[in-house]
Amino acid sequence: MAQTALLVCDAVEGNALRIARILDLFAIPWQQLSPRALVDRAPDAAAGSYGVVCPMAILTRVRAERGRVNGLPPLIDAAESVFVYGADATPATRELLRDWSQSESATVAETEGPASLCTISRHVPTICGPMSGLQVSVPSLQPQLVFSGLSIEPLISVREGCVFGILRSQGTAWYLASSAAVIDLGQPVEQGYFDVADSLLSAVPIVMYIRQAFADIMLQPVECGACLIIDDPVLRPHYGFIDFHRLARCAVEHNFSCSIAFIPWNWRRSRSSVVELFKRNRDRLSISVHGCDHTGAEFGGSSSGWLNVLAKRASARMEKHRGRTGLEHDAVMVFPQGAFSTVAPGVLKHNGFMAAVNTEVSPLDAPSGTRIADVWQMAILRYADFPIFTRRYAGHGLHNFAFDMLLGKPCLLVAHHDDFQHDGRGVLEFIDRLNRLDVALAWRPLGDLVRRAYRARWHGGGQQVRMFASEIMLENGGSTPRQAAVEKLEHGIAAVDRVRVDDRPVEFSQAGELLRFAVELTPRSRSLVRIDYRDGGASPSRGYSLRAHGQAAARRYLSELRDECQARAPRVYRLAGTARTWLAGAMRR
Ligand SMILES: [Zn+2]
Repeated sequence: MAQTALLVCDAVEGNALRIARILDLFAIPWQQLSPRALVDRAPDAAAGSYGVVCPMAILTRVRAERGRVNGLPPLIDAAESVFVYGADATPATRELLRDWSQSESATVAETEGPASLCTISRHVPTICGPMSGLQVSVPSLQPQLVFSGLSIEPLISVREGCVFGILRSQGTAWYLASSAAVIDLGQPVEQGYFDVADSLLSAVPIVMYIRQAFADIMLQPVECGACLIIDDPVLRPHYGFIDFHRLARCAVEHNFSCSIAFIPWNWRRSRSSVVELFKRNRDRLSISVHGCDHTGAEFGGSSSGWLNVLAKRASARMEKHRGRTGLEHDAVMVFPQGAFSTVAPGVLKHNGFMAAVNTEVSPLDAPSGTRIADVWQMAILRYADFPIFTRRYAGHGLHNFAFDMLLGKPCLLVAHHDDFQHDGRGVLEFIDRLNRLDVALAWRPLGDLVRRAYRARWHGGGQQVRMFASEIMLENGGSTPRQAAVEKLEHGIAAVDRVRVDDRPVEFSQAGELLRFAVELTPRSRSLVRIDYRDGGASPSRGYSLRAHGQAAARRYLSELRDECQARAPRVYRLAGTARTWLAGAMRR
């Protein structure tokens, strides 16, 4: 496997800069190589194996300078793999393809109209991974160039032919992408979530190449965790369309896990039969924290003092729930209505939450604040270095879940009680499709998933671990001791109170923007690593008037009435909807 990437460009700008950002995201070492050096320099055997990333236009230029008889530049010839992007229909490109493929019929042709459907090969799962065999409908895809007449193994095709494929020639793997476009990870995520269909040919080929060519050197996820998250239900036998006993049976039959995003306000209302069901099925059913009172956008506020009160009150109620029922919960926040502010993640971090999970990727007060680079990470760390794991609706499409997995992100599916109409057929069928993807999904309780959502690689005889949540579970399945060098993005070490490994404090230090510490792992052992942050202050009872309590109660009961009516009295539910619309119109008039 290649140990480093050589980025061929005149200057690290434009597409070269965009590729450099993608290499950085996967922590792959790279060097710039000028086109001149491609002609002049001989490979350095001591430098180890490498992959080359180069625009087609530079290769045709170099070929013209060297002349055809001199063959490939030595640096290209000695590369383990070459990613070439941006074909054109010029004679120079055709000749280059004929040289590589030893086929006189090799050519590049433009599709007649705009392409709209891209098919990902099911025959090369080592490269296409979870996206194997998917068809992706691509909006407004311009006419594309397709490769033909050469023995290329297609990885992505449109109706007329291959737009990204692999050609093996004289010991080198050539990854040929006809599109010149490269995604810019510095752009903000528009429309609430990242949709890979908008940038399929500028994003997927380079990611597939990097994952395959640099598999040994990149920071890899240790598994692909998965969990279904259902927002809002009270733990009683039926909630809206949800029947918890049926849900438990389906979780076994269809192989999935489910976390209920539990509203702390409901801490006194769980029924013992459902609590016992959760305890009996603890590997399948779990609960996480969903706001505090679940009033509209309650974690979207900008007052850190008030958010501290809310976070503390939410934790206190969950503790009372644990005390009353004996049911453990995961200290993972699911923001009500997906709303959070730039302040909220920092507040949660200092109140013992290990992560958040959310559908919306940007804060209310910075709607364009989250970049594509942030959502391509295992979790968004842009706000106070606190991890926000992104989750998706089934409506985002299977291709988006699959691309998240290709990036190494966990698979988090969100549902509400009304998705369980008609025996939950829609949700169950989607879970079956997820389970059929070319990836081994590890369905876990949400907390366990978060603790295993880290990246690692072997480096200098030890393991380098990049953590995201404030807790991770490290494992040494081998028969010899192992040392892990753990790091986490942390701009201010003063925020850290202590770092514990299995409850024993360990030394830690700051190196640049990283918090660092070492963990010794004995053979065949597991260790729970935990970062404790300093307390955020404030009291959970501050500012909670009788009136506020009454409003929260009214809101909860009315929301539940709505959900129950929808499931059991659809006529009443429809009438209420009509009345609500009429009332809203009357108030505007
Ligand atoms: Zn909710």
